[in-house]
Amino acid sequence: MSSEPFNQQLLKYIGNSPTPFHAVRNLRELLDDAGFQSLPEEDVWELEKGGRYYITRNGSSIIAFVMGQIPVEESGIRMVGAHTDSPCLKVKPKPELNRQGYFQLGVEVYGGALLNPWFDRDLSIAGRVIVDNGEGKLCQGLIDLQRPVAVIPSLAIHLDRDANNERKVNPQTDIPPVLFKDAKKDIKDFREVLSEALSHTSTSLAGKKIVDYELYFYDCQQPAITGWRDEFISSARLDNLLSCFTGLKALLEGGDRQTTMLICNDHEEVGSVSACGANGPMLQSLLERLYPQPERLTRIIRRSLMVSADNAHGVHPNYADRHDGNHGPILNAGPVLKINANQRYATNGVTSAIFRQLCEKADVPLQVFVNRTDLGCGSTIGPITAAMLGVQTLDVGVPTFAMHSIREMAGSEDAHNLYRALTEFYSYEGSLLVEDI
Ligand SMILES: [Zn+2]
Repeated sequence: MSSEPFNQQLLKYIGNSPTPFHAVRNLRELLDDAGFQSLPEEDVWELEKGGRYYITRNGSSIIAFVMGQIPVEESGIRMVGAHTDSPCLKVKPKPELNRQGYFQLGVEVYGGALLNPWFDRDLSIAGRVIVDNGEGKLCQGLIDLQRPVAVIPSLAIHLDRDANNERKVNPQTDIPPVLFKDAKKDIKDFREVLSEALSHTSTSLAGKKIVDYELYFYDCQQPAITGWRDEFISSARLDNLLSCFTGLKALLEGGDRQTTMLICNDHEEVGSVSACGANGPMLQSLLERLYPQPERLTRIIRRSLMVSADNAHGVHPNYADRHDGNHGPILNAGPVLKINANQRYATNGVTSAIFRQLCEKADVPLQVFVNRTDLGCGSTIGPITAAMLGVQTLDVGVPTFAMHSIREMAGSEDAHNLYRALTEFYSYEGSLLVEDI
């Protein structure tokens, strides 16, 4: 597949995935279409060689895997990891605010969001709703209002002459979105407003009593190919739905000779410590279930490799001094190996050499990122998974501008390049062990 149809599918996937719940639901649909079978964790499993399966947790994390034809003790597992969550604004449990006759919702900031870009956007709401089915039984379903239902208006510059120099954002007071005018102050419960909105939809949640919810604001603007020469893609949640989708497409291309796995976890943006996060037991308990003998599992893990795919910072032409002069990744110049001496990234000399060779075979250009030595470094699921499992790991990702903004930007060639590199990895027949000379 060439980069143009790939990008169209990628942008459609991200546009239809405003929350991690939707991201996982849409990955499941693609897996179902490709013949993968869902394995409920609470059931007994019967697995076959060559079988294609997936598990989910919390509806927001998913692991898909292929039981390869080659004995897994010989091949190890080819793993790719990514995350389904992105920084955003989450509706509070008791969010109702009425200020100056306007109905607003109190929000929490999820993850390390850049807040300024959230102002003056057409915002919608999506997430998970838990309802009483009318007979006392709880059921959950996803909603996506899709239309613009709220805005966080900026304060006019005339009322804050120093806005361009010193405006700060107070997340408690400055960002509750405005939904509508409620001059009589008669809305006491947001659930009523939500119920009303759902009653006009065809969803099976319509008409049911809303018991609880996890709802998020998102920008209604659809992802797009941009730039004078169509060189860029621009969208919310490129970090890291780009890697989830790219990993999935590579998994589907990878065939069934090797044992392969795609791990997409929620909660990376808030530290990964949760039942379904990378710093929880989801992956480990799956591996223990697939390979119950501890000694065998250790042998398999020692022959495996985890490619942790998460976006990297492209060198911004207006702020180039924020990068090390020799390690500033350029958009559309290939995926980026991320390296950090203090193990904020898990790449080491061996794993980077393996990946360099894979990219060479796939004819994919590769760049390297190291943070400025006088700046602190971000991190991702790579080091977490390496520490949990003891699996050799590398961190890689496509170069991105405006990471954690409501709208991020990447090169229109890079996701496709990463896809080709990951496909090479998933189908690679050689050993993932580098021997002493
Ligand atoms: Zn990320």
